Amino acid sequence: PKWARTGPEDDDVAGKYAYARPFPELLQVGDDARCHCGASAGPSIPTEDRDCVIFDHVGAVRVKIQVRRCPECPPKSPMTAGPDLSDLGLFNMNNQTLISHALLNKYDTMLSANETTYHGFAQTLQREYESYDSEVPFMGADRFRTCWFAFMNVQPCKDDFKCSICGPEPEVVVVDGVTVCFHKRRRTAKLRPPTYTSRSSPIHEDVKPAKR
Ligand SMILES: [Zn+2]
Ligand SMILES: [Zn+2]
Repeated sequence: PKWARTGPEDDDVAGKYAYARPFPELLQVGDDARCHCGASAGPSIPTEDRDCVIFDHVGAVRVKIQVRRCPECPPKSPMTAGPDLSDLGLFNMNNQTLISHALLNKYDTMLSANETTYHGFAQTLQREYESYDSEVPFMGADRFRTCWFAFMNVQPCKDDFKCSICGPEPEVVVVDGVTVCFHKRRRTAKLRPPTYTSRSSPIHEDVKPAKR
């Protein structure tokens, strides 16, 4: 969103922010459709129109989406390749659930302005959807959280973290739960990152590092 951008450099990375309503009745697939497994499904595979739901910031609508059967997933599995739709301001979760960038941005705004939880946000949206006679009720908090993280996963995060020794994009980033930095006045000589160890640190023998 506009408010989260710091300058023209961000526009280069994130692209233009699209907001167009109403959404088309049929979301068309291009030649670049890809399945969840990574296989691309080109124009040689016939398209099928499926039902899907677009969750927007004031309500949800049912529309159709064009998909192609994945050429590589086993025939029994229902895996299909569909359009990306970011040019319409949509995040295509799984060709059935589509979420508008406006809705995801709404959560970002509320999170940054008043520490909104997923549960609180889902409840707010459930009420709003009901008040404004949405065709489809809002999704549950767990499903919204899954979608939000899936969207975060595809965001390019290139220059967010930098280490004074290994440079930009370090392999491991250790963060604490504090989203703002400590006030200068609280920075005492004893303030250390949570990973700092000393002779009195407890030793846990049974801790195994996460598998890569
Ligand atoms: Zn596939
Ligand atoms: Zn480093």
